[in-house]
Amino acid sequence: MSIEQFSQLGLSENILKSIRDANYQKPSPIQQRAIPAILQGRDIFGCAQTGTGKTAAFALPIMQKLETSGNFPRPLQFRALILTPTRELAEQIGANISMYGKHLNLSYCKAYGGVSLKPQIRALSIGVDILVATPGRLLDLFNQKKLSFDGVEYLVLDEADRMLDMGFLPDIRKICSQLPNKRQSLLFSATMSEEIEKLARSIVINPLKISIDPDKPTVEKIDQKVAMLESLDKYNFLTELLLPHADEKDFLALVFCRTKHGASKLAKRLSKSGISADAIHGDKSQSARQRALGKFKDHNIRVLVATDIAARGIDVKNMNMVVNYDLPDEVETYVHRIGRTARAEASGEAVSLCTRDNIQDFSAIEKFIKLDIPLYTNTQYHSENVFELIKKNRAFRAKMAKKNPQQQPRKIKDKEFSAEILYGERRPSVYMEKPKFNAGSPSKKGKKFDNKQRSKSPQKSFAKPQKQNSFGKQNKPAFQQKTKTQKPMRPQKQKRIRKNFVSN
Ligand code: ADP
Ligand code: MG
Repeated sequence: MSIEQFSQLGLSENILKSIRDANYQKPSPIQQRAIPAILQGRDIFGCAQTGTGKTAAFALPIMQKLETSGNFPRPLQFRALILTPTRELAEQIGANISMYGKHLNLSYCKAYGGVSLKPQIRALSIGVDILVATPGRLLDLFNQKKLSFDGVEYLVLDEADRMLDMGFLPDIRKICSQLPNKRQSLLFSATMSEEIEKLARSIVINPLKISIDPDKPTVEKIDQKVAMLESLDKYNFLTELLLPHADEKDFLALVFCRTKHGASKLAKRLSKSGISADAIHGDKSQSARQRALGKFKDHNIRVLVATDIAARGIDVKNMNMVVNYDLPDEVETYVHRIGRTARAEASGEAVSLCTRDNIQDFSAIEKFIKLDIPLYTNTQYHSENVFELIKKNRAFRAKMAKKNPQQQPRKIKDKEFSAEILYGERRPSVYMEKPKFNAGSPSKKGKKFDNKQRSKSPQKSFAKPQKQNSFGKQNKPAFQQKTKTQKPMRPQKQKRIRKNFVSN
């Protein structure tokens, strides 16, 4: 069945209202598949390109479930944990949650480094429904005993591939070891690799695997170009490219640099050349980063020069151009960078600068995206010598492709994946298949878990099991019915903060 409308996904009227306010016309493919499954209680392992609407895909159903459960967080606790690699992304997700939660009675809080701990500690001391956090700050707060993981019902790992790139794996493992076994887990990644699959196996249980165009990681709407240059001409080329737009109020370009120092220097140089620019990178304070991003979003500067830390977090509407002034070290990063343009339905341009020094890096990118990126010709700085070297690499690749036509990236089948996660030291799934069509077989694992594990649940006080209901039917698992049988009272303090949808 194809789902054309948000109203077909099982979302509540209050959520549909905020979707209308956001002016989303129809659910994106990942939203169509993920939202009903998450509402059902399934774990998700999702792989989709950047700009495909992953945030709403996980945030909307989780918020609906939090809202309708009638449950509430206890002091120091939070019910949904959304882990993201960067502060910017935490901000972005926070902004989305605030937009989607306009008509809901939920609280959320962001916890990331570089800003004062106090507001985060204050919000957590009362308890929040949703916590959006970067791993470092989260563990920092945990070590200071300012939060407890005991109330987590939902875990979202967003941009999991980026988290691994940034070396967060030990932190993620530590966090996951603290979480209650009984939870619903969702893992999203823009690219797929063996490391991601390995991580997924330890986090999601019997997941619905959603893969949107995994073999075409580049967003097709992006007009990709490459300029072949001698190293000394890089800056001249950049000004030649950007100067014609210097006075266009609508024009926004994101320029990527490899080093923090390089980014600052380039922003200053561009400003001097008459192209208004600012830089955003990890050495800047959080407020300076917010300020630069704000200026860019408000169209007060034409160019934002960024290191890769900004590659994932920035969702600026109608960004016209991404420039890879320095090529990224990792091929996947190329996809994330150019994914900053062409968000949602918009289209954009991505121009990469290739010099003699990075022939190999560039060829690796072309190999990864399976595309010979068209040449940027409209420049006086074109270097035929560099282009010749690229052409040689392309010819070699074409020859190899002919020899080995089957060489495809490794894919895992759902079955293989599910089988693998069913044994070993796995936590049990909270997903219970309804015995709809095949009454005999469903979820033996789940049932086993019902009897043994559920009584150990950290939330057991909310979930006193009943023996039989008045119709003599067997009761649902305790965690499914806890809200109907026992509606706990929300503490006065939380009531106060929940008058509005609050955040720190
Ligand atoms: P991803 O996490 O997959 O990179 P995001 O969740 O950041 O993508 O969404 C990208 C942009 O698309 C955001 O500006 C978001 O508001 C918008 N968006 C999300 N879902 C829809 C939709 N169904 N229709 C239109 N725009 C959408
Ligand atoms: Mg995202």
